[in-house]
Amino acid sequence: MISMLLPFPISLAAIFGVFILLNLYMRRIMMRKTGSMTGSVFGSSDNSSLLKYYCMSCGTQHKQAACPKCGSKMKRVGS
Ligand SMILES: [Zn+2]
Repeated sequence: MISMLLPFPISLAAIFGVFILLNLYMRRIMMRKTGSMTGSVFGSSDNSSLLKYYCMSCGTQHKQAACPKCGSKMKRVGS
């Protein structure tokens, strides 16, 4: 009866091995899940196109460092 069971160190190693494999498997699933999530948020839609910059002095929407209308470098971010 007792000879049917695995010796203690081997059974412990087997349990440990299964635990590591399970951990790696779970991590791979989590990585795939978060990967698809970030892909839908950042991959498909261009983040920079969502942000619009407005001149603080005249209110012109532009993407240059300085306002093309009045030359002011002060701008605010709007959507
Ligand atoms: Zn301006």
